[in-house]
Amino acid sequence: MAETVDVAVIGAGVVGCSVAYYLAKMGVSVHLYEREAIGSGASAHATGSLSLLGAEFSPGPSFQLALAGYREFPSLVPELEESTGMDLLYQRRPSLRLALDEEEETFIKSLMPWQQEHVAMKWIDGAEVQRIEPRLTKQVRGAAYEEESAQLDSYRLNLALAQAAEKKGAQLRIREVKSLTVQRSTGQKPGQPPGGNSRVTGLITNDGEISCNTVVMAAGVWSAGFGDQLGFPVPVRPLKGERLLLRYAGAPLPVLISSPKRGHMISRLDGLLSVGSTGGRDYDQQESHLGTEYDRQPTAAARMELLSRAVDVLPGLADAELVQQLAGSRPLSPDGKPIIGPIPGWEGIYLATGHTTKGIHLGPITGRIIADYVTRGSPQIPVELDDFLPRRFQDIQSPDFTASGLRAEE
Ligand SMILES: Cc1cc2nc3c(=O)[nH]c(=O)nc-3n(C[C@H](O)[C@H](O)[C@H](O)COP(=O)(O)OP(=O)(O)OC[C@H]3O[C@@H](n4cnc5c(N)ncnc54)[C@H](O)[C@@H]3O)c2cc1C
Repeated sequence: MAETVDVAVIGAGVVGCSVAYYLAKMGVSVHLYEREAIGSGASAHATGSLSLLGAEFSPGPSFQLALAGYREFPSLVPELEESTGMDLLYQRRPSLRLALDEEEETFIKSLMPWQQEHVAMKWIDGAEVQRIEPRLTKQVRGAAYEEESAQLDSYRLNLALAQAAEKKGAQLRIREVKSLTVQRSTGQKPGQPPGGNSRVTGLITNDGEISCNTVVMAAGVWSAGFGDQLGFPVPVRPLKGERLLLRYAGAPLPVLISSPKRGHMISRLDGLLSVGSTGGRDYDQQESHLGTEYDRQPTAAARMELLSRAVDVLPGLADAELVQQLAGSRPLSPDGKPIIGPIPGWEGIYLATGHTTKGIHLGPITGRIIADYVTRGSPQIPVELDDFLPRRFQDIQSPDFTASGLRAEE
């Protein structure tokens, strides 16, 4: 007879571990299934930037979710650090979004009117930027100065969420989920859209079958593979990203830095400088950055590009030592927004995937939303969540990822 659990979560990245953590906190019996190791997907490679100022968030529900996601961390981080004894290298500092040319200045300023409604920020000129950090290139024309932004180590966050979830009763199973077990409504054939009342009843792993009331699909870029069985599209595609960790002589940067064309530059609390990331904006042709498989191969081209961008922003970095190059693939959705919630026509399954460039920032709030769905039937946070529901892709035939891929910054 199949082992039984209340909720089975597929994937132990930041999103799946957040779901397991919030569910376990609410006393739900939960198993977390991971085929390789905790954090073997995108979550281990991310910068861990929790930033509201990029172009990823747009006015309305997207920005509301971003704010709610940002506000999870000040209480979650100490909670996790206390539970696990780990240091998540969490820092909250002012940030500068730099403009090195006119195009960047126009772009940054075009977003500011609505960003200023929610975030304490202002435009400062090049001289003011130099006063804050004199080592920056004199080419800087000005910057959006934000009073507070944040960053942490995403891999440590991933490990801490998993460990804290386990301490609250969740069980981690290193098993690959091969398929779902389902009860189809009358007349529904495999691979066809459900007619209503179809139900996911469990999982088949490489080591047996598990029966459960609810499955949460949080398998990052691999979630797409389950769409065929459900007869419902799970439109997620890998978007490769690379970044570097550098060691250099000199004091850490006092602010978190980014620029639309040149990416981020962040002094981490372990003393290393993170620079990156490559993303859609670095390529002219869609196929050169939109993969079909998860790609964790660092490339010489990205290394050269990132080093040259970094030196453009902070010329003193010409002598920096390369400590590590990271590469991973983000779970890109066609509109760049996460896919969170129930699947039309199916009971017993929720999607929590497609977080694109913001899965660390939005992982914990996604965990809270899914835990609310499971325990209370609907999310309790004061954010309009319709924009993120899977049903927006119900009738999509061949999803187009070009625009969201090219827009991706971090
Ligand atoms: C270079 C780079 C920089 C980034 N910077 C940032 C940033 O600063 N801020 C930010 O918010 N986001 C950032 N991101 C994006 C972020 O990393 C992703 O959005 C996020 O990690 C997605 O998390 P996830 O849990 O959905 O997926 P993943 O972390 O990929 O986890 C999915 C897990 O599912 C497992 N799995 C897959 N299939 C199965 C199966 N069949 N059975 C069991 N387990 C399975 C995998 O092994 C994996 O562990 C960055 C990404 C990259 C690559």
